[in-house]
Amino acid sequence: MSSNKKYQSSGAYQNLYEESIRNPKGFWARQAELIDWHKPFDKVLDDSRPPFAAWYVGGETNLCYNAVDRHLAERADQAALIYVSTEVDQERTYTFRELHREVQIAAAMLQKLGVKKGDRVLIYMPMIPQAAFAMLACARIGAIHSVVFGGFASHSLASRIDDAKPTVIVSADAGSRAGKVVAYKPLLDEAIERASHKPAKVLMVNRGLSAFQSVAGRDEDYASLHVQLKDAQVPVTWLKSTDISYILYTSGTTGKPKGVQRDVGGYAVALAASMKHVFLGEAGKNFFATSDIGWVVGHSYIVYGPLMAGMGTVFYEGVPIRPDAGIWWKIVQDHQVSVMFSAPTAVRVLKKQDQSLLRKYNLSSLKALFLAGEPLDETTAQWISDALQKPIIDNYWQTETGWPILCVQRGIEDMDPKFGSPGVPVFGFNVNVLDETTAQPCKVNEKGVVAIEGPLPPGCMQTVWGDDERFVKTYWSSFKPRQVYSTFDWGIRDEDGYFFILGRTDDVINVAGHRLGTREIEESISSHPAVAEVAVVGVADQLKGQVAMAFAILKTSDVMESPEKAKALEADIMKVVDSQLGAVARPARVHFVNVLPKTRSGKLLRRSIQAICEGRDPGDMTTIEDPAALEQIKSAVVH
Ligand code: AMP
Repeated sequence: MSSNKKYQSSGAYQNLYEESIRNPKGFWARQAELIDWHKPFDKVLDDSRPPFAAWYVGGETNLCYNAVDRHLAERADQAALIYVSTEVDQERTYTFRELHREVQIAAAMLQKLGVKKGDRVLIYMPMIPQAAFAMLACARIGAIHSVVFGGFASHSLASRIDDAKPTVIVSADAGSRAGKVVAYKPLLDEAIERASHKPAKVLMVNRGLSAFQSVAGRDEDYASLHVQLKDAQVPVTWLKSTDISYILYTSGTTGKPKGVQRDVGGYAVALAASMKHVFLGEAGKNFFATSDIGWVVGHSYIVYGPLMAGMGTVFYEGVPIRPDAGIWWKIVQDHQVSVMFSAPTAVRVLKKQDQSLLRKYNLSSLKALFLAGEPLDETTAQWISDALQKPIIDNYWQTETGWPILCVQRGIEDMDPKFGSPGVPVFGFNVNVLDETTAQPCKVNEKGVVAIEGPLPPGCMQTVWGDDERFVKTYWSSFKPRQVYSTFDWGIRDEDGYFFILGRTDDVINVAGHRLGTREIEESISSHPAVAEVAVVGVADQLKGQVAMAFAILKTSDVMESPEKAKALEADIMKVVDSQLGAVARPARVHFVNVLPKTRSGKLLRRSIQAICEGRDPGDMTTIEDPAALEQIKSAVVH
């Protein structure tokens, strides 16, 4: 495969794509045949109340049924969930039959603890099989799961508990990262303490990694209930296609995370279609996505997508370089993985390791490596392509869409990727680059905002959980009077129709593929008693793509006069961020300044701060209130 090769189309992609835009109802009615329906739908799409779109109205189905039960006839003894942990040195494969059993037991546990259809279940867990059982169990009985990434700490968790109002929380004593035990239970207890909403029950998986105190009457033990309910039969609850399957929180421009809400039927069809046309899914083979169930990739392409496609899914607890940087390739070899999905950051980490480890294993089963979540720079793409000698396929999407917006779709046509570009629009997504002010389509190679014409295809968010107004205001109001979905990413489209993503238009940053709102980090830093004001920006980083950089004004200036005191305070502030949001949100540095660059109307000039940090020109400074502020940022960054 060569990069930047002029692509000659056979027309198959273009035909399918155009049909999906011209005749979405016909196109999506056909894709709906990829899943099993309990009751057929009456109407493919109801878009009578834009920008809301209801897919497969009148139809009844179930995500768990499609992921597990329907494979029992043909592939009961095939690997379904392949748990590999380099953290606790364990491997265990569950066949579809075993997965079916475990999911029924987990569903019976939830029912015993009072969970009913429509209730929320918050899942705060490491990458252990019980996490997947809990998700599938919720889907089975029509409970709405809300998985919170295990790297988030008590403040983030508490705000999600208050928003989702779960009946039950499923958790574990601890996770483990790079061999270090991370206790979850104290963070969970603190979060419940902080939250106004109290869950009735907490279901605890005790891995024996970190001793914890049980709260009498509230905490239940997974293993004990498992023994009691080992033969439980829990039939599938048939759900309306438009019922809610899950909520997944994602960062935005305010401090309050948004609950991305998804349906049942549309999501199932979108995943099935993407497994076939985008991700080269093949029943009977194994899929390995290196993400975490706390992120959207974990929902779509660790749990639901591969299982729905009849594939085994590798459920990996560990980092890419432990015990050594060959671990992923060893997993590919040992489990005959056919498709892999990861993030550019992880590849950049591998790039710094012993290269011979890439050649040590037999990778003949691997068809392609998909990468997503952040920009994939050309150098990294070329490096991994040369090293693996396999197609490297970038794909661009968001928590909100649930599946790719841009990608070369090799399940349809053998298109060549262009390194640096995540490809062309995926079927169903009417993607455009629009001028920020006129809302008119930009010319070829002209920079604008990547936007999607409604209705969004199946699988995308239905709304913001509990807040329809926020959904419309946040996503559909950038190009008024037209109602178009904004991705909040800058982009261009080249003469061959390939898109290039040029960064966010808002205050969201992307650290090692993790999406964070700078406002959330600012709020956390501001809660430190010594801090008067703070600005956080995302700064380009070779390894992580971006890192958060903080500039704080202190309430008293004495700390700034002593480098030792300043260092100690910086560490103390980082601890606050760690304990409230989690280490993922910790800024690379907290610099102390006397003044922050603002406009005369008091707006923080974040872009200018960012430009200085990246060694660029800060731009037009005629509106700045105090030019000395920029000098302070400059000297803080240099020192
Ligand atoms: P998340 O919702 O966490 O998946 O973050 C979505 C954001 O990550 C997008 O809006 C982009 O800013 C960025 N992103 C995701 N995939 C890509 C990609 N392949 N290339 C460039 N940016 C990406």
